[in-house]
This record gives sequence, C-alpha cells and structure tokens, in this order.
Amino acid sequence: MAIKILVVEDEEALQQLLEYNLSREGFEVTVVGDGAEVITTVAEISPDFVLLDWMLPNLSGIEICRQLRANTETRSLPIIMLTARGEEEDRVRGLDKGADDYITKPFSISELVARIKAVLRRTNPAIVGDVVHFADIVLDRGTKRVKRNERTIALGPTEFRLLDVLIQRPGRVFSREQLLDRVWGQDVYVENRTVDVHIGRLRKALNKRGEHDPIRTVRASGYALDETYEG
Ligand code: CA
Repeated sequence: MAIKILVVEDEEALQQLLEYNLSREGFEVTVVGDGAEVITTVAEISPDFVLLDWMLPNLSGIEICRQLRANTETRSLPIIMLTARGEEEDRVRGLDKGADDYITKPFSISELVARIKAVLRRTNPAIVGDVVHFADIVLDRGTKRVKRNERTIALGPTEFRLLDVLIQRPGRVFSREQLLDRVWGQDVYVENRTVDVHIGRLRKALNKRGEHDPIRTVRASGYALDETYEG
C-alpha cells in the first residue's frame, strides 16, 4: 500500500528533487506549486500526508494549514512544514496553526524521510507498521495474512488490499472512487460496482461465523470500518 504524499512547493528544483526521492522511497507523490490549489487537491486525492512549504504564491503554507485543520475531513491530516533558515518565528506559528513538525531548508532527504515516518508513526500507526490491529482483526502486511479471533481468514489479494485501506483509518468513509483509486490504482478502469462485489467477498470471509459485521455501508457515500466496534 503506497502512502500518498502531497508535496506543496513552488521551487521547481526542489519539486523535482522531492518527487524523485520520495517516489524512490516508495511513496506515491503528487506535487502542487500554487497555494491556491492545495485545498481542492487534498479533497481530490485525499493524501495520507502533506509536505507544505511556508512561502507559496497566492496562499501561504500557514493559511493552508489553518484551513486544513478547520475542516473535519482533514483535521488530523499529518503535515510537515518546510521553512527557510531564520524563520524561527514562522516555525513557532506553524506549529501553533497545527503542523505536526517542521523542517528547515536546506535539509537532507534521509532526514526528511525519517521525520515523515516519525510523524506517520505518531499520527497514524496503522499506516506504517507491518502488523495492524483493529478490534478482533489482525492484518499482517509482511505475511499478507489476516486473522479474526485467532482464526485465519482466507482473502484474495483484492480483498486484502481493501481491508488494508479501510483499517488504516477506522471510522473514515471511503467513497467507491477512493477505494478504486487506492486498491486498483488510478490508471485502471474498473466500474464502481466492482467495489461492492469485493466488499461483499470481504464481508463473507470476515463474518463467516456470524460475527458482527465490522464494515459499515454508508448510503450514497461508500464504506468504512465501524470504529465503535471493539471485538
Ligand atoms: Ca517557497
């Protein structure tokens, strides 16, 4: 499961450097250079992480940060701010407006990647670890196995990836389009109802013994893991 990073940076050389190196690290990278485009891009691609430059044309990083934090959908979206050396005061204001961390330019890619992973581990452990727990379900990305109540669940690769996406953010409703994008990939044409078919298979495998269905169907929206379910 590639972690989606939105890189917001207007300097072309830095855009290329970040895109190249973060892709090599296995992240799925989208780059935006105009501050005014960030909010709509976040809504469109629903990234797992935002790397946000402080000085941007049209809308500053601080203002973007404030807007993301004010929206319930993006309130807990992890953000690292990029600041130029000597903007001490800005950094403090950045954290004040809700950035999870900041990094000063110039920085090394290895330092940046380590900081991104540290923030992800803190804000969303389900996304970076090998083994993820949700109620009575355990998903192991290393062995590609899923267990429920100690019982091994046989899942096809598509059902495994579907569960992997849902388990990263229990309670969050994923639309069919978002699931298609994350499970099948952006370049593949698959009909929306294919999602329903695979959700059906996933449910059947998970709830074989008549257990509580941990997947919520949200009418006209999509699917979510029921965050109130405790196993
Ligand atoms: Ca800049």
